[in-house]
Amino acid sequence: VFLVGGGPGDPDLLTFRALRLMQQCDVCVYDKLVSPEVMELVRRDAELIFVGKSRDQHTMPQEEINELLAKLALQGKRVLRLKGGDPFIFGRGGEEIETLMQHKVPFQVVPGITAANGVSSYAGIPLTHRDYAQACLFITGHLKAKAGSSELTLDLDWVAMSRPQQTVVIYMGLVGLKEICEKLIEHGVPSTMPVAVVQQGTTQRQKVVTATLADLADKVTAAGLKPPCLTIVGEVVRLRETLNWFKPNN
Ligand code: SAH
Repeated sequence: VFLVGGGPGDPDLLTFRALRLMQQCDVCVYDKLVSPEVMELVRRDAELIFVGKSRDQHTMPQEEINELLAKLALQGKRVLRLKGGDPFIFGRGGEEIETLMQHKVPFQVVPGITAANGVSSYAGIPLTHRDYAQACLFITGHLKAKAGSSELTLDLDWVAMSRPQQTVVIYMGLVGLKEICEKLIEHGVPSTMPVAVVQQGTTQRQKVVTATLADLADKVTAAGLKPPCLTIVGEVVRLRETLNWFKPNN
């Protein structure tokens, strides 16, 4: 089984190794996040198995995906497990490999350009900058049930996220966006801190909304952004005004 990162969307961002394996596989097990342009490059006569994974619509539970990969490999097939971005960044790649190891199925991992890298580049936002950010945090806006209640809440390290001189990149954050902005302000981040939300970055469907922590949620709602969206918080977002180079023809 080859666990391959398909990058953030633009097929030109695939690694050479990813492309080569995509053209050699017998079966390709892929996620919703893999762009149609990337799927176009999978070997024409390979069997394609969609395993979904969008919010609220888990087409196949993770345990079943893990078992499926092992089963296909044990049938003697060359299996390509194609994932959006990088398999080891919020990609559950580790869990899929554990099951393969239990079944003694050999595997390799092929890194991909993660959304934070690809999307920030195409949005003209350097994640670090000598003057504005010496660190960068990748976090996932993960929802968790509150103790003793069924209400969902964000379980994040707000203190770490609120430090100055850093950039915070939030994966999967569209649902909790308003709460994230409020919590950061509560923890001392200026409400004027610039933020960008990028929809389908690196593709011709890329849309970018820039705002401040104070007015982000309203602007995102007004723009009607849909997943996948990546949120970037930090002074570096201001650089987009001069560095924005990618003009999708949407
Ligand atoms: N393994 C992937 C991340 C999976 S988590 C990677 O390394 O990129 C899924 C989240 O990634 C999405 O909810 C979204 O926040 C982000 N994402 C992935 N591709 C994106 C894209 N092209 N544009 C914006 N966000 C993207």
